[in-house]
Amino acid sequence: MFNLSWLERWSWLAFSKIEKGEFCKYCVLFYKSEYAGKSMNSPPISLVIQPFCNWKHAISIFNNHQNNEDRKFSKLKAVEFSKIIDQKQNDIIVQMQGLALRGEHDFGELSLNTPIKNYGNFRSLLRYRIESGDNLFLNHIQNCNKNASYISANVQNDIVSVISEYMQHYICDKIRKEKYFAILADETKYISHVEQFSLCIRYLEKSSNFEKDNTYIIREDFLQFVPVHSTVGSELDNTIISTLTSLGLNLKNA
Ligand SMILES: [Zn+2]
Repeated sequence: MFNLSWLERWSWLAFSKIEKGEFCKYCVLFYKSEYAGKSMNSPPISLVIQPFCNWKHAISIFNNHQNNEDRKFSKLKAVEFSKIIDQKQNDIIVQMQGLALRGEHDFGELSLNTPIKNYGNFRSLLRYRIESGDNLFLNHIQNCNKNASYISANVQNDIVSVISEYMQHYICDKIRKEKYFAILADETKYISHVEQFSLCIRYLEKSSNFEKDNTYIIREDFLQFVPVHSTVGSELDNTIISTLTSLGLNLKNA
């Protein structure tokens, strides 16, 4: 049987309720899954791709994994990644202020001196943090592997989409809780000439003091932009229906 104290004994161990087994959280995220179980030094498949449920041999397998060099490397990558993710408030500030993240030359190493050209808000904010005395981040920028700085445009885009997904889930959860909603969809042409909807939801939300004052607040929340391939009425209808369904909203309540 699975033993709860294992989670304390091996800090990399994580139990998945959904998969009903254990994983090495570092290797799941930072080990190339196709190499799992390939050699003496690679972590077993059942800690990376599949849930580990071999309770009988758990202790010896976990001990082996504890000393495994590849696991140590996965952990190192995770530590580096979490160091840099701590800096990502920059992304959030820039987006809350409605500013663009990227600049014209937004790639390569981060120069510690202010460049003559404008390299974008994101890079400026990173430099600003270093100048404000964030030595942890300075150390990362000076010593990280060239392919593991985690400030590239791809990483920025990944983080933006993670944040947007999180917010979308948060808003949709609220809508589901309040049940009834109205759809606001405005179609317009994006700068790249793609037709798109801005999809918003209008709904009533219980006030934070609802128990006492019994009042509701009218909310209008933006959910996402949806590319539209045809502007025929029925196509627009289908686009709205499929987008809302994929977000888990029940159209019977619209
Ligand atoms: Zn591992």
